[in-house]
Amino acid sequence: MSFLHINNIKKRFGDTTVLKGIDIAIEKGDFLVLVGPSGCGKSTLLNMIAGLDSISEGELLLNGERINELHPARRDIAMVFQSYALYPSMTVAGNIGFGLEMRKVPKAQRREAIQKVARMLQIESLLDRKPGQLSGGQRQRVAMGRALVRDPQLFLFDEPLSNLDAKLRVDMRTEIKQLHQRLNTTIVYVTHDQIEAMTLATRIAVMRAGELQQLGTPQEVYDDPSNLFVAGFMGSPS
Ligand code: ADP
Ligand code: MG
Repeated sequence: MSFLHINNIKKRFGDTTVLKGIDIAIEKGDFLVLVGPSGCGKSTLLNMIAGLDSISEGELLLNGERINELHPARRDIAMVFQSYALYPSMTVAGNIGFGLEMRKVPKAQRREAIQKVARMLQIESLLDRKPGQLSGGQRQRVAMGRALVRDPQLFLFDEPLSNLDAKLRVDMRTEIKQLHQRLNTTIVYVTHDQIEAMTLATRIAVMRAGELQQLGTPQEVYDDPSNLFVAGFMGSPS
């Protein structure tokens, strides 16, 4: 039994089918990167896993249990978006701890959890600031902190670095990779950046127009692409 089984998932918006039956089995500890051109359905698939988009057909199984209809808050899954969506009037500490506060975690315990995450992300000195006083990279760290503090069984990232400049993108990439190793956690990560996919993934899922083209290790996908699209997209040698 897989940790997360995406079982023949389809998505229709009106008359348009944007996911045409996606099958992926994700194991605990995987860093699965969904990659593909803009509009191919990556975010839609991620939103369905998070419970933010309904599933038209197929089944999502988490630890063998069907979660199609499970409320997002009860999925034990945390998502980091491309746009930081922080509360501007709240401090960094408030933003990170907000989810815990909603769940009525006692203040002392909350403070401890916030400190631990802030240490991990090296934003301890920023805890009293407001989001408006932070750089883009710092804001993205806070967004990650908000996900980390929940200690979920699964992290979803939707193009978390695409608003950052090139240098910072590379730095953050390394940090996300280290976090994955350190926390020994499971991540599904969306990007349209091939290099990002190659460096982060334990496995890559290449998508095109709502269909899965290939699923494999970075090396398999790069060295042994299943078709011309994958070869072209991943920049494989011909
Ligand atoms: P990606 O994240 O790979 O860029 P998306 O999952 O955002 O792609 O979108 C896949 C397709 O679904 C696109 O053609 C997009 O226009 C369409 N789509 C996404 N959300 C909606 C929606 N709420 N209503 C109608 N069409 C949508
Ligand atoms: Mg997207």
